[in-house]
Amino acid sequence: MADILPAIFFGHGNPMNALLDNSYTAGWRQIGKQTPKPKAILSISAHWFVPGTGVTISTSPRTIHDFGGFPQELYQVQYPAPGDPGLARRVQEILQPLTVEFDSSWGLDHGTWSVLKHVYPDADVPVVQLSIDETQPASFHFEIGRRLAPLRGENILIVGSGNLVHNLHAYAWGRHMPDPYDWAIHFEHEAKAMMVAGEYKPLIDYESLGPEAMLSVPTPDHYLPMLYVLASRQEGEVITFPIEGVDGGSISMLTMQVG
Ligand code: ZN
Repeated sequence: MADILPAIFFGHGNPMNALLDNSYTAGWRQIGKQTPKPKAILSISAHWFVPGTGVTISTSPRTIHDFGGFPQELYQVQYPAPGDPGLARRVQEILQPLTVEFDSSWGLDHGTWSVLKHVYPDADVPVVQLSIDETQPASFHFEIGRRLAPLRGENILIVGSGNLVHNLHAYAWGRHMPDPYDWAIHFEHEAKAMMVAGEYKPLIDYESLGPEAMLSVPTPDHYLPMLYVLASRQEGEVITFPIEGVDGGSISMLTMQVG
């Protein structure tokens, strides 16, 4: 498998991680140092969850501050990585006959830049984002991930950015950091075991996994980027979890790497 790049799902969590130096961001930096530098990155972020499949076509995608109520410092962050229209066209081609729109209005949302700012701090690797079609079931997204897998052999780093467990209603925003909820720990543990075992069907049908899954994945947006990465796994490839932890009781910061 030496000729293909890994694919990585990052748990991005709180947007403030863009500015923080903690165990998660240190882990992201470490991944940037360990991973062979790709020609470009294809990012599937929880925060571009819209009707339809689109791909960014701009040569200089803007940094989108898609959140509210954070310190001014966070709104000043720029991540000036170039785009890669050639990769956007390749994605359109590889996903045919699916309609993939070239999008010149979106840019890089915080699901992408809050992580990549640490992984590639020099912003010198071109980045293209692919939207998640909110009208489609999880099985559709897994299939898209499977079809994108050959890009890994073309020196493209496939990145998913979301959170395996993401329950903002239960999240502790204050200074006091509670212990993780039992249901968060249980679901994460169960999901990891299925990933390692290659049992993808229950992960695609996660809504049938019971109440702990429902609490962990109350909406699909932060979960689906994981399926894109998982689906790109090749026969016999290792799967690892280089970063683990639960933030604020209800957000899994798990990073999952394929290959
Ligand atoms: Zn998010």
